[in-house]
Amino acid sequence: MGKVWLVGAGPGDVGLFTLRGREVLEDADCVVYDRLVGEGVLTLIPEKAERVDVGKSGGHHPIPQREIEAILLDRARAGKRVVRLKGGDPFLFGRGGEEALALRAAGISFEVVPGVTSALAVPAYAGIPVTHRGLSSALRVITAHAEKGGLPDLDFDALAQAKGETLVFLMGVKNAGPLCERLINAGMDAATPAAVIERGTTARQRCVTGELGTLKERMEEEKVTPPAILVIGPVAKLAERLDWRTALPLSGIRVAVTRPKKRAGRLSRMLRDVGAEVLEFPCIATEVLPGPLPSLTGFDWVGLTSVTGVEALFTLLAREGRDIRELGLAKIAAIGPATAEALRLHGLRVDFVPEVYDGAHLAAGLTERGGKMLLLRAEKGSPELTEVLRAQSADFLEVPLYQTHYVKASLPDDLDMAVFTSASTVRGFAACAPEGRESFAAVRAVCIGEQTARAAREAGFAQVFTAASATLPALVDATVAATGA
Ligand code: SAH
Repeated sequence: MGKVWLVGAGPGDVGLFTLRGREVLEDADCVVYDRLVGEGVLTLIPEKAERVDVGKSGGHHPIPQREIEAILLDRARAGKRVVRLKGGDPFLFGRGGEEALALRAAGISFEVVPGVTSALAVPAYAGIPVTHRGLSSALRVITAHAEKGGLPDLDFDALAQAKGETLVFLMGVKNAGPLCERLINAGMDAATPAAVIERGTTARQRCVTGELGTLKERMEEEKVTPPAILVIGPVAKLAERLDWRTALPLSGIRVAVTRPKKRAGRLSRMLRDVGAEVLEFPCIATEVLPGPLPSLTGFDWVGLTSVTGVEALFTLLAREGRDIRELGLAKIAAIGPATAEALRLHGLRVDFVPEVYDGAHLAAGLTERGGKMLLLRAEKGSPELTEVLRAQSADFLEVPLYQTHYVKASLPDDLDMAVFTSASTVRGFAACAPEGRESFAAVRAVCIGEQTARAAREAGFAQVFTAASATLPALVDATVAATGA
């Protein structure tokens, strides 16, 4: 018998997904998810897991609740580890309780992993503390949507009396007009501050503020669409003073990080730190070649051109029962600081890093130094390095350690930018757009170096930005600069 985890995915931003949620998701055999689950969270679904989308989108109706429950039972009975992923918290207007009851009735074991609810997190991302000393000492979280579509049967008199409280309405876009009207008719001050936050915690977050009496018009003016949260109460006014998110340099920017999954983490974190919504969309994967590695002895210089290359070198040596002492006293060159750091972590001091971190400058530095060279790099690595060496009639041996292949998936929607750390990631990205370049021409390409930028222009990107140097901090700076375009 399998098991089901009812997991809250949080309000959208993958950073608000819980550690426990991530743990169980990474072990899932089957993931059943809703429409409101953030795309960043969806990228954490393991490749091998079955994905079942039960949310409505693009005019398709959602799968009925009974059917969802049947899917959970079916997969659990087949012995699967099933993760039922829901937006926000599974037990807050998430029908998690119903699913838990169905599982209990069927004798299937389950666990609940609470999530960060949109009812709290979305106001917080808009700078609205739901309680605040002197303004609000209680909070009500209310649905504004009855099963049949209209307003639910609420005690509007009691709500209107709620002085010093905050009212948070979920599912309230359609009924905002009648809702505000009923509250005013029940005696609530039409001048009570109010705010609506659309697509909170994502790059498309928008906060529209007003008063209870004007909120509906404000929402119409601004064309607010679901999902959105309505906040009514004096705290709503704090949004103007406490908005912290739009001040971040990459706020409002949805960016794809295209490097291989293993390498994406640091760059993603740096971009999130400056406010971007980051989608990890690995376009390439690398694989260590079967070998065998030729002898590493007898060279004056050994050149490495990527962190992946450094790791592949040690993998191959270990696999063949050899070790790095074969290099003897050969000097070591690295294309840039990240590669140099990877070597340092393996106990190797690097003797040369070119001033500009690319193949041409590495080649120029090596020919200047002379001697017999061993280049350990990717199969079909960039031609620049060897072209320059050949032109200088350098004495070198090129040994491929790993190969790169494209990972095909459908491009994320609605991207503002894509960040590329190599020409191969650019080509991998383009390979994910079978309809051709039109589908991504509007995406700004931010590239780590000239060669990558050239590949981006060739692939059809209309706006291409290049980092001042080939490092992640410079790449993040270039991404920030690209927001001005
Ligand atoms: N279980 C969820 C709520 C599900 S009801 C939770 O705890 O968050 C769906 C409603 O949640 C939407 O209609 C909207 O009101 C709200 N909501 C969820 N995610 C949101 C987001 N990112 N921005 C604004 N509102 C959101």
